[in-house]
Amino acid sequence: MKKKIVILGAGESGAGSAVLAQKQGFDVFVSDSGIIKDQYREILNSHQIRWEEGSHNENEILSASEVIKSPGIPEKAPLVAMIREKGIPVISEIEFAGRYAGGKLICITGSNGKTTVTNLIYHMLKKAGMNAAMTGNVGNSFAMAVAEGSYDYYVIELSSFQLDGMYDFKADVAVLMNITPDHLDRYEYKLQNYIDSKFRITQNQTKSDFLIYWDGDPIIRTELTKKQYGMTLLPFSDEKSEGMAAYTENNDLIVDYPNKTKLMTIHELALKGRHNTYNSMAAAIAGKVLNIRKDIIRESLADFQGVEHRLEPVITVCGINFINDSKATNVNSTWYAIECMENDIIWIVGGIDKGNDYSELFPVVRKKVKAIVCLGKRQQEDC
Ligand code: ADP
Repeated sequence: MKKKIVILGAGESGAGSAVLAQKQGFDVFVSDSGIIKDQYREILNSHQIRWEEGSHNENEILSASEVIKSPGIPEKAPLVAMIREKGIPVISEIEFAGRYAGGKLICITGSNGKTTVTNLIYHMLKKAGMNAAMTGNVGNSFAMAVAEGSYDYYVIELSSFQLDGMYDFKADVAVLMNITPDHLDRYEYKLQNYIDSKFRITQNQTKSDFLIYWDGDPIIRTELTKKQYGMTLLPFSDEKSEGMAAYTENNDLIVDYPNKTKLMTIHELALKGRHNTYNSMAAAIAGKVLNIRKDIIRESLADFQGVEHRLEPVITVCGINFINDSKATNVNSTWYAIECMENDIIWIVGGIDKGNDYSELFPVVRKKVKAIVCLGKRQQEDC
């Protein structure tokens, strides 16, 4: 009898997992408690995959040999508890697709900069003429890419929620940009739980695998001292110091892996601001690890178009610059955005609180922000 795979959630990752699971010969059933979007329903129907929406059929689900859970469904959901109680393994789409992906896996995580670095590395690989797919949290399912193509390289953005469902997966090249408190509501308000989740990107790595990370991050540094890690460490930093694989010196970006080379000046980088220099350094090291030529790396970092909604210039009216930074969804990204701007900011803020401490922003806001416009659900409490 065929092994049964149940997929919870029929979004991008669920639909991709379903197609891959079917291709691999499993009996597949998809269950979504909400209403499935037309585009995903069409994918399931066109592959004759069984699905339900609006509720969960427990008999169907509890007869699975493995469950692939959408990262949006919290661990605390009663159905997930029931599945675990029955001893059925619950994994993420990335764990599942990793079993069938043939190419090299370049995985990017961190509290901030994931999408930017993922796009940068992908841009570099394409410019170098490599057969690469950009997948994961950026919006394209990794499983679908594995099902449809046979790529030599997969550049995968990973959120902590995706990492939580990963066990045997191994990144050939892992990039860990930074760790600052975020999504604590999903981690019992314990920072260590969130840190542990981010560090899953290193699991199963050995000496021939790489961890590229920002050495200036106190949390990452502390974590790396806690045990002996087996992979090759490639840290980057603002300044030259022992063992850095990239750093800046007199406004030059230096990459020191596998040997020392001056790549370009930071003024030539397409992405401005200190945080984006970190993003460019991470991508440059990844390029070196993947044996991409120096001139291709340089060109890619210089002509990258940026990603929308990330410090994106919108328009200038009467000398006033309007900037869309709506992807600054936590304290750290907001700090870097305000820090890299001139004074006299009119700051438009809003949204839902995720349990963060906003007091870290007070000094930089006092210094640079002239007026605040508050919008959204939490406007009275937050402002
Ligand atoms: P993520 O995918 O991790 O959310 P993005 O690349 O989408 O990261 O950027 C989200 C926000 O974080 C943007 O406002 C961006 O300007 C800011 N940001 C980007 N890179 C960094 C970084 N290395 N450190 C801090 N903030 C960053």
